[in-house]
Amino acid sequence: MLANRTVRPFAPLVGVVRAMRRGTLIAIGICLAASGSAVGQGQVPPSSENVDDMISKVLEQDQATPQPGVSSPKPSALPVVMGARIGEHEDRTRFVVELSDPINLRSFTLNNPNRVVIDMPAVAWHLSGPPRPSGFGAVKSYRYGLFRPGNSRFVIDLNQPVSVADALVIPPQDGYGYRVVIDLFPTTQAKFDQTAGWPADLKARESAAERVASLPPAPPTVLPHAVAKKVIVLDPGHGGIDSGTNGVNGLQEKDLVLDEAMRVARALQRRGDYTVHLTRDSDVYIPLGERVSIGRSWHADLFISLHADSNPDAGVSGASVYTLSEKGSDKEAARLAREENQSDVIAGVDLAGENSQVAPILIDLAQRDTINRSSRFAQTVVTELSSATDILSRQPHRSAAFVVLKAPDVPAVLIELGYLSNTEDAGQMNTSRWRDGVAEAIASAVDRHFAPQAAVDPPGGPNGASE
Ligand code: ZN
Repeated sequence: MLANRTVRPFAPLVGVVRAMRRGTLIAIGICLAASGSAVGQGQVPPSSENVDDMISKVLEQDQATPQPGVSSPKPSALPVVMGARIGEHEDRTRFVVELSDPINLRSFTLNNPNRVVIDMPAVAWHLSGPPRPSGFGAVKSYRYGLFRPGNSRFVIDLNQPVSVADALVIPPQDGYGYRVVIDLFPTTQAKFDQTAGWPADLKARESAAERVASLPPAPPTVLPHAVAKKVIVLDPGHGGIDSGTNGVNGLQEKDLVLDEAMRVARALQRRGDYTVHLTRDSDVYIPLGERVSIGRSWHADLFISLHADSNPDAGVSGASVYTLSEKGSDKEAARLAREENQSDVIAGVDLAGENSQVAPILIDLAQRDTINRSSRFAQTVVTELSSATDILSRQPHRSAAFVVLKAPDVPAVLIELGYLSNTEDAGQMNTSRWRDGVAEAIASAVDRHFAPQAAVDPPGGPNGASE
């Protein structure tokens, strides 16, 4: 779990540096004060049980005036996050992150639901199954990953409102790297709400990113006699900090769907009839609204979102295809939409203001035509997929209020490729053969959808989608 790192023979006494305040960005400076201290040579790194005691001791020792900082040479590689842990105490919950290098960090809180977000530059994650909180303390769960290129993030889900104390940094000692200690103290919801929200600069940056995503593309150069190519936007779900569902075999939804989207893109490009765009082509998180904007900005003729499902019943298996409806075609579809719509919550997005996730999805009359075209394509996908993979036995085409499908003018479907909770599905989804077969099936469905005779096919709608 831990990366190689230098264990300093004489650990310097700690200079604990107040590192950050809510919403401000302050470099973590590390001050090393010379000392003939309590911590000696060759001491065995403490076990995780007594790390808290050690940290407390270290914090108490922080009476010495810090000496001028000793800066270490900047490594060219990314800083490494080597460990993260949560200590639950009567009066506080302590979150400790261990790093190879000092980095810029900042924290802020979000409500609806209550979360603590810790932002940092891009880092390499060397965490393997970090200890999880009990779920009974202030912390329900946490996750980490890339939020934006150059911006990594921890998101901590809370069981109760907390106030976040200034982070404290402990320089390397006793075999540990730099440790950032963040204490969470219980507070009231009213106080939590007062300060919750994205810092202003982050808001500005994100809305700029959203604006860029929704900029119309440059008009294509029209060649004489050229036939306009259909534009297909492929949307691999999740990414970065939002890993989606985890398979029984360790396969992560975000990785599976990215790879599958690339294969579908190649299958479509080979045909020469399509212009293909992806909402993401790397392991990065893209907000749901931005995915919709990307589809609209390319004037997509089809928007295809790729996902994989999971179910508490490990026996449920097969692919299914979803289109948009206000209410789900059934309870299970509505549940799935709620889960897939959580992506922004998971990634630590501020849902205040004109947030689309909390508002019900309302479909207007003009959108009905888009939904009918979506439904027709969904039926075609189900037919084509059935030759390449198992199809969910009951109702493989269903509908629900998926945020990512809500562009009023872009026919859109969301394909759940199979159940990562099902051993057989997860196994076959892990093979190139299956992935290529499914990619080819999706591409064939696109062909059939745009074939001239397809226009006269009667639209086949799922329950609730085309009423
Ligand atoms: Zn998903």
